[in-house]
Amino acid sequence: MALSLYNTLTRAKAPFVPVQPPVVGVYLCGPTVYSEAHLGNARGPVVFDVLTRYLRYLGHTVRYVRNITDVGHLESDADTGEDKLEKAARAQRLEPMQVAQHYANRYRAHMAQLGCLPPDIEPQASGHITEQIGMIEEIMANGLAYEVNGSVYFDVPKYDEHHRYGKLSNRSIEDQLAGTRDTLAGQDEKRSPLDFALWKNASPEHIMRWPSPWGNGFPGWHLECSAMSRKYLGAEFDIHGGGLDLMFPHHECEIAQSQGSHSHTDEARVWMHNNMITVGGAKMSKSTGNFITLTNLFVGPTGGLSQGYSPMVVRFFLLQAHYRSPVDVSDDALQAARKGYRKLMNGLRLLAKLEAPAAPAADGAPADTAAGDAELAKLTADLWVGLDDDLNTARSIAALFNLLRKFNALATTPAARAAVSDEAMAAATAAYRALVADVLGLRDEPRANAEELLALTLGFYSEAKADKAYDKVDVIRAALKDQGIVIKDTKAGVEWAYSEE
Ligand SMILES: [Zn+2]
Repeated sequence: MALSLYNTLTRAKAPFVPVQPPVVGVYLCGPTVYSEAHLGNARGPVVFDVLTRYLRYLGHTVRYVRNITDVGHLESDADTGEDKLEKAARAQRLEPMQVAQHYANRYRAHMAQLGCLPPDIEPQASGHITEQIGMIEEIMANGLAYEVNGSVYFDVPKYDEHHRYGKLSNRSIEDQLAGTRDTLAGQDEKRSPLDFALWKNASPEHIMRWPSPWGNGFPGWHLECSAMSRKYLGAEFDIHGGGLDLMFPHHECEIAQSQGSHSHTDEARVWMHNNMITVGGAKMSKSTGNFITLTNLFVGPTGGLSQGYSPMVVRFFLLQAHYRSPVDVSDDALQAARKGYRKLMNGLRLLAKLEAPAAPAADGAPADTAAGDAELAKLTADLWVGLDDDLNTARSIAALFNLLRKFNALATTPAARAAVSDEAMAAATAAYRALVADVLGLRDEPRANAEELLALTLGFYSEAKADKAYDKVDVIRAALKDQGIVIKDTKAGVEWAYSEE
C-alpha cells in the first residue's frame, strides 16, 4: 500500500505523489514568538514531525521548513490592533527581537523535549523583508493590490473575478461578505472588508519598521509564509501543514498571494490541517485564556490536571488520535496515554530477548514455522496500514499493541517462539523498532531517580559491611566505581563523592 493523504483543498484523500521526486518539500506554519507555547501549539509540530519522519522512512528526501513569526502578527485577524510581539516587548520593557529570541529559544527546547526533529530550515519573517516586498510588487504588477497611505492591500473581489477566494475553506465570497458587514469600521483604507494587508504603514511609535517603496512599514502576517515557502521550497511544493484554525484567513490568504503573484500556484499541492486540542470540549487557545503551557504541563499540577506528564507521554497522547480528530485533555486521558507509552517502551526492551536464536527442538527435528511466520508477517505488515491511510497514527498504534501481545506470548513460551523462524522474528522486531522509535519518535525516558538509587545502594553497602560480607562490599564498591562514584567510610557514616580519577 502507498501513502495517501487527505487534502483540504480537494476535500479528498489521494495517493501522495511528489512534485519533484525524490525531494519532498514540507512547510509548517510555526509559532508567533511572543509567549510560552501551550499544549495546543504542540500538536501541529508533533503531527508534522511524524509525517516528515515517515516520508523519510519511505525513502523520500524531505526538506522541512518551519518558520518563526517575529513580526506582523497583529492582535486581530482584521489587520487591526497592536503587533503581538511589540505589545509583549513594551509590557516587559524589552527589545521586540529580545522577546522573539527568548520565546524562540524556549520553543525549540520544548520541541526537542517532545522529540520533534529540528526543521531543515527555520526562516524568520523579519529576515525576509526583501522577499516579501518583492512578492507585493508582483501582486501589484498583476493588478491585484492597491496602495493607500503607505499601506498595501490585497484586492480580494478583483482576485475573485478570475480565481476563487475561499476555495480552501470552502466558503463563497458572498457568505464571507455577509459575515463581515460591519467590520470595516476603522479600516476605511480598505475597498472591501475582505481585503487584507500585504504591507502596513508604521505609525511613529511602531518599533519594528523597514523601508519599502511605500514608505516605512512592516509586512502583513500572511505574506511571510508565501514568500519564505517559495524561497526555500519553490513556487509549487508538496505539503503545507498547519492547525485548522489557520485555514481561514491565514492559509486562504497565502493561496491568494501565491496565485496573485508570479507563482500562479496554490503554493502547495496538498494542504493538511490538524484538528484542535480541547479542554472540557472548548478549544485550547491563548486568546481565550483556556490553555496549559508546556512548561507547566511537564511539571504539573496545572490547569485542572492533578499532576505533571512527561514530554514523551504528551507526545504519545497526541499521536494516539488521528490528526484530523479533536483531542480532549484530561487526567484520565493522559494517564491512559502514560500506560500505553510505557507498554510500548517495555516492548522495546523485549526485542533483544526475542531476537536471540530460537532454541532447537529436543528431538532435533526442524520446526515447522510456516504458520507462525505467516501470522507474524500479517501482524507486522499491519503496522503501516494506518500510517499509509492519511497518517492514521491511532490505527498504527493499535497495530503495535496487537504485535506486542504476540511478542509477549513469544517471549514467555519457548514452544511458541520455536514455531517462528529467526528471519520472521527479525523482520517483526525491526519493524516494531522502526515504527516506535524512528517514525513515531518515541524514546525511552529515564524514569529512575539516580539520587534515590544511589541512596538505596549505599544502604545495601552499609548492611553488607555490618554483616562483614566483604565480598558483597567489594562488588558494590566496584560497581559504583564503574559509574564514577567512590564510597567513603567516614566517622559520620557512609558518604559518596565523584571519582576524581
Ligand atoms: Zn503561515
